[in-house]
Amino acid sequence: MTRPLATAFLLSLSVMSGALAQNPNPIPKDPSPWKQHAMERPQPVIVTPGAPGAPVPPPSDAVVLFDGTSLAKWQGNPTVPMPARWKVQDGYMEVAPGTGGIATRQGFGDVQLHIEWMTPTPPRGESQERGNSGIFLMSTYEVQVLDSYQNTTYPDGAAGSIYGQFPPLVNASRPPGVWQTYDIVFHRPHFDATGKVTAPARMTIFQNGILVQDDQTVIGPTTNSRRDPYLAHADKLPLTLQDHGNPTRFRDIWLRELPE
Ligand code: MG
Repeated sequence: MTRPLATAFLLSLSVMSGALAQNPNPIPKDPSPWKQHAMERPQPVIVTPGAPGAPVPPPSDAVVLFDGTSLAKWQGNPTVPMPARWKVQDGYMEVAPGTGGIATRQGFGDVQLHIEWMTPTPPRGESQERGNSGIFLMSTYEVQVLDSYQNTTYPDGAAGSIYGQFPPLVNASRPPGVWQTYDIVFHRPHFDATGKVTAPARMTIFQNGILVQDDQTVIGPTTNSRRDPYLAHADKLPLTLQDHGNPTRFRDIWLRELPE
């Protein structure tokens, strides 16, 4: 189950704007010869990253979203605001399973995002049930967070994937219980007045300093076992983190808003 809380949010937006009944965007085609979530698709080659380090200090123009002490920049849900109920201790936040995803109070468009994460040790569960969380740019486009160390899953759902669309270029995962980093460059999609996509979203992702997505065009919202068309949305929307039922941890979250 990877449907984000954002689905309801986007639906409410689209109903308000009347776009739902007349979305001009087609259902995207599979971006490869493989069916979505195909297990027989080749697994990403393993590349062992360098040694983990201390949290990367934010630069002077960064918006610091989590400095290890407080969830003040976050809330439980963008449509029905409630406090974020994840655990904060010892400089990290941890998914409190069952409390739901969390969203930034502020919205963002084009960004450079730095975020560090750690999957639980000892590992529990297999495939998508091991250390699953996710980072949803604009509450809509998921960069998968998963324990992909000695844990086989469908390649378009591995760590470093753009969920359900593009596997990582390589498997750059560290073991569970070790901090990992994502550095993400995200360019938002653009829409014309009718809601038609004029420029799709794009992402570049480094996992643990290793390129795993190279200026990849995103073909639509990331969904589980389904292809959804782009649906026009605001220029800025919250960043959300997923509660997938696993106590995955995050720390050192900051971004730079990029000029368009
Ligand atoms: Mg996920």
